[in-house]
Amino acid sequence: MTETTFTDIIVVGAGIAGAGAAFALAAQGHAVTLVERNFPASGPTGQSSACSHVFYLMPELQRLSKRGLEILKSISSQTGESAGWNQIGHLYCCGNNSATAFRKATNEVNALGCEIEILTTSELSQLYPDFNFDGIEMGVWEPTGGYADSYSATNALVTAARNLGCNVRLNTEVASIVIQNGQVIGVQTKEGHTIHSDKVLLATGIWTRPLLQQVGVDLPIFIERHTMTVLDAPNYARRILPVCWADDILMNYGRPDGNSTILLGTWAGGGTGFRHERTNQERQVNNPDTHDAVANSEETLNILRSFLPRMPMLADCGIRPGYTGLYDMSPDDNPIIDSAPNINGLFIICGSSGHGFKMGAGVGEAAAAMAMGYKPDVLSPFTIDRFEE
Ligand SMILES: Cc1cc2nc3c(=O)[nH]c(=O)nc-3n(C[C@H](O)[C@H](O)[C@H](O)COP(=O)(O)OP(=O)(O)OC[C@H]3O[C@@H](n4cnc5c(N)ncnc54)[C@H](O)[C@@H]3O)c2cc1C
Repeated sequence: MTETTFTDIIVVGAGIAGAGAAFALAAQGHAVTLVERNFPASGPTGQSSACSHVFYLMPELQRLSKRGLEILKSISSQTGESAGWNQIGHLYCCGNNSATAFRKATNEVNALGCEIEILTTSELSQLYPDFNFDGIEMGVWEPTGGYADSYSATNALVTAARNLGCNVRLNTEVASIVIQNGQVIGVQTKEGHTIHSDKVLLATGIWTRPLLQQVGVDLPIFIERHTMTVLDAPNYARRILPVCWADDILMNYGRPDGNSTILLGTWAGGGTGFRHERTNQERQVNNPDTHDAVANSEETLNILRSFLPRMPMLADCGIRPGYTGLYDMSPDDNPIIDSAPNINGLFIICGSSGHGFKMGAGVGEAAAAMAMGYKPDVLSPFTIDRFEE
């Protein structure tokens, strides 16, 4: 079965990155088709804590995050739909070992026009008297950080793209990428329809590797399962945890969700652009469609226990059922945003490694520019060939 649909470019996947790419392409006047196997944010984007900050150690991640947040914060002017943005500020604490790197990155982020500041431990203790800052050397306070609603943000980008003429096809799974003589000519859906285009941008996250293996490209992406612990703090969540919090020593992060719930999680590395931890084999998942999405009580309590030395007051909260989500990990915890080797017209975003929400709309925009022939220099660290021996 063949459809006569022709389009300048097909974007596969309506997570935050694919939605951002579709919006950018449509805003530039390109005929774009966005193909999503379920609905927007139905993958890991929908499980995201969506904690957002510009502070990163790697300058390119700083720039992509800054741009991603600019897009999310302004998207309601396009559609009237907001990204569910909550600007409660973001606090990133580190020990003595990372302090020099954190100071350097703070200067770099401020040179981009942001206003973040370093807080000493005595300032931190005054601001947050119930916290225990043992081992912490300093905190980076980003007042314009916070969290979004990942569904609202993705839906707003898709609506904006659709309003600009993007053909949005939900419940449509791409079964294969169609290639002729080394050139992409379209995608084939699970139902056997072909959508034609000489450009395809894959933004399929944890599902990317098998799709690419079919066309002879194998990326070193693996999938990790991460648990989120959810605490009950009716009408006092923000008194206990008023900000988005990240701890470079304990490698955990948390935030209030409204004023009655607190979310706690861990990262795999990558939080600041540094690798902190070897891959934990137990977290690896082979099939993203059959993994256990429910957090068991041991996982839930382990995360809570990791916070208690820092925030003993969390012990007073109730516990709600937790959940799990999947990270598409690359070997260095940074994304791959590149063209596929030896196939004209095939472009890839994947490997966001558990920290890709905040920069997703910026990554989508930059990848859209790459697919249209202009690769921005901000993408230069994220090539596929960096993993060659
Ligand atoms: C529990 C959890 C907490 C997180 N917290 C944060 C955080 O606080 N801050 C932060 O910055 N990041 C966070 N992240 C990471 C962030 O959410 C992800 O990096 C980001 O959402 C990935 O977006 P994506 O668009 O690349 O991919 P995805 O969200 O995986 O989207 C891919 C889309 O492609 C679709 N798709 C796949 N295959 C096909 C196909 N064959 N045909 C059609 N469609 C297809 C899927 O249905 C899906 O909608 C968190 C992640 C998790 C799991």
